[in-house]
Amino acid sequence: MSTNRSVNPVAVGSLLAERAYEELKAAVLANRLRPGDALSVPALATQLGISRSPVREAVQRLIHDGLATHVPHRGAVVSTIDVEDVRQLYVVREVMEGLAARLATEQLDATKVAEFRTLLEQHEQVVASGENEKAHIEMDMAYHRLIREVAGNSHLTVALDTIQGKAHLALHSLWRSPDAPRLAVAEHRRIFEAMTAGDPDAAEQAAREHIRRLRIRLSQAVATGPAPDGPEAGVRPVP
Ligand SMILES: [Zn+2]
Repeated sequence: MSTNRSVNPVAVGSLLAERAYEELKAAVLANRLRPGDALSVPALATQLGISRSPVREAVQRLIHDGLATHVPHRGAVVSTIDVEDVRQLYVVREVMEGLAARLATEQLDATKVAEFRTLLEQHEQVVASGENEKAHIEMDMAYHRLIREVAGNSHLTVALDTIQGKAHLALHSLWRSPDAPRLAVAEHRRIFEAMTAGDPDAAEQAAREHIRRLRIRLSQAVATGPAPDGPEAGVRPVP
């Protein structure tokens, strides 16, 4: 058996890429990197203090998530939000999240109920304590991820994974209201209650209602213009 314990450079590279991806994704979702901002690999590598190739890989993953777009002669930029595209995305997301909640209700066991309960309680605490938008976004995404994990349909998981990034980017760049986290977590609790009551119909309805309300809030935000601290660049309201 080999005693050579030298670290595999490929593994280190992919760890760095993972870290870069998580940092860049968080920056995009929290609006520190705004729609239209350039994602220059050399500049980001310097900023993150790592080499270019993991950064390049991270940027490719953002493009795959729909969070970044490749623009000819400019390179990758943070995706701009096309309001009609987002509306269509939410129409599809509503059906898929409803289905995920229905399937999750049928698969739910005591361990998963406890996981949901813990996540929800932590989320409610974060929201009640006020300003911690990053934690709110992460817990929001974690909640929906847990639903599809419990639902256990790989096709649905892939479909929801690929739209999740863009759905959240749109939400947080178009609609940054102090009410947002409070309303979201209350709707999450309603989904949880329907799931734990063992009622797939009610769970599906509650999940659809949650996404439908997000879509309505988004369209209202567009109608009244971007939030005071929201980015104006990249927002293209439908005429
Ligand atoms: Zn949600």
